[in-house]
Amino acid sequence: MARYTEAKCRQCRREGEKLFLKGNRCYTDKCGVDRRKYPPGQHGQRSGKMSDYGLQLRTKQNVKRTYSVLERQFRKYFYEAEKRKGVTGDILLQFLELRLDNIVYRMGFAASRSQARQLVGHKHFIVNGKVVNIPSFRVKPDDVIEVREKSRSIPAITESIESMEQRGTPEWIEVDASAFKGKVLNVPSREEIPVSVQEQLIVELYSK
Ligand code: SF4
Repeated sequence: MARYTEAKCRQCRREGEKLFLKGNRCYTDKCGVDRRKYPPGQHGQRSGKMSDYGLQLRTKQNVKRTYSVLERQFRKYFYEAEKRKGVTGDILLQFLELRLDNIVYRMGFAASRSQARQLVGHKHFIVNGKVVNIPSFRVKPDDVIEVREKSRSIPAITESIESMEQRGTPEWIEVDASAFKGKVLNVPSREEIPVSVQEQLIVELYSK
């Protein structure tokens, strides 16, 4: 499975904000962004005005990295969003939010999206009674996601549930941690998606 190989904290520092790629460490004072508030690399501490193109590119990279999605798949989401009725940027973010790996992360069954992706790939989750091992699987409202019975003692899952409160659960998701299950209540509106980017910049970038 293709994946990002650049060090996770470097990715956050490049985008200049916390992308929460490392699980519980992101909530401690060991966070790379909190410790070094400038981009990585030899010229990281140089400042300069960013061009419009630079801003669009950084916004796209930020979202791709946040959801750990590679360029090809990200473009596919964009073109699909573009064909749908509505605001393309909002629909793009909704597609990303409804990925099974993201839902598992939002429900608190994994400490990060990359961990969620690995756990899903290893068949630890059930969607509406059936095992699903595809991280990009698109979840729909009313779908029930459950940790498989034999997977409920896996430390990655139990430790993540323990730190769930720290991260909080979005209002469009319902979780019963004691039963190791959760439900998607609705497709999140833009206001319900806690990603602070101007997604219109991505639309502008891909529409050139
Ligand atoms: Fe990003 Fe987490 Fe590293 Fe902080 S600790 S820089 S939020 S991956």
